[in-house]
Amino acid sequence: MPTVYLVVPCYNEEEVLPETVRQLTEKLASMEKRGLADEKSRMLLVDDGSRDATWSLIQKFSQENPRVCGLKLAHNRGHQNALLAGLMTARQYADCAVSLDADLQDDVDVIDQFVQKFQEGCDVVYGVRNKRETDTFFKRTTAQGFYRFLKLLGVEVVYNHADYRLMSRRALDALSEYRETNLFLRGIVPLIGYRSDYVYYDRKERFAGESKYPLKKMLSFALDGVTSFSVKPLKFISSLGILVSLGSVLGLLYALISHFTGHTVEGWTAIVCSIWLLGGIQLLCVGVVGTYVGKIYSEVKARPRYRIEQETGRLEPRTGQPGEKGL
Ligand code: UDP
Ligand code: MG
Repeated sequence: MPTVYLVVPCYNEEEVLPETVRQLTEKLASMEKRGLADEKSRMLLVDDGSRDATWSLIQKFSQENPRVCGLKLAHNRGHQNALLAGLMTARQYADCAVSLDADLQDDVDVIDQFVQKFQEGCDVVYGVRNKRETDTFFKRTTAQGFYRFLKLLGVEVVYNHADYRLMSRRALDALSEYRETNLFLRGIVPLIGYRSDYVYYDRKERFAGESKYPLKKMLSFALDGVTSFSVKPLKFISSLGILVSLGSVLGLLYALISHFTGHTVEGWTAIVCSIWLLGGIQLLCVGVVGTYVGKIYSEVKARPRYRIEQETGRLEPRTGQPGEKGL
């Protein structure tokens, strides 16, 4: 039987946490009964620097419930980094780890199928949403547009898959070798390349509380997805530059002809227009180049991506690994 860790990033989730812990405890118990998870399986709640009672709740649950473990990040590092911290910790104790959100939007019953596929030899199992009716119209259309856009730019992502997936220890080991600071796990996992499969499920509504992904965070996440995995925008700029240069040669010819035929004053509109247009395009291009330079800057610094401040609960080392750290 495999040791399964359920890794749950939590940011200000005091409202949903009790229900999440209840449902996941039930899930682990029933999986144990059916031979899908052993008694060392845990849920690992990662507190991403919450400002509410999330950490004290996690501590309380971990004292009462042997299946609950917690990590507290020293600072709010964002969903992707919190998830990474959880997965990299789970890697030391588990045979496979399932990542899911704290808000119970992802159907927990699919975890059984995840583990079955793992037992059949898959290293990565992606949870894919059937339909997104429970999301708002805005979120649905922007998200779907985003997946299409990424595909257009040549980024390999699984359509309609968020971060609900199972990864084997081998896949987690591979993930640990990707050292990038601008994390976009959905783009990295397909690059690992081991045997993978899909499980389809319906996404539910948030159980309680509100989304921790406001529009601003969503946009910056989307931008990370594009600029961390595709250099096509840079290539597009070069083509645009060539096109605009060719265009300006024509403009120059036009200006010269106007000059010699004595119609210079009439050219004023064209000149003003082109100054504005070119200025705009140049600024846009500098902006895109700047985005990549900014990324190089943060990657070169190679700062640690998260820092674990505290741990709680009984994280049990895998059998046959006496040297590893237990708590
Ligand atoms: N989350 C996090 N850090 C953040 C923002 C979100 O750990 O800075 C967690 C959050 O607690 C939840 C998951 O990421 O478990 C997904 O967030 P949410 O459900 O709010 O996003 P949505 O489903 O609306 O996209
Ligand atoms: Mg959610």
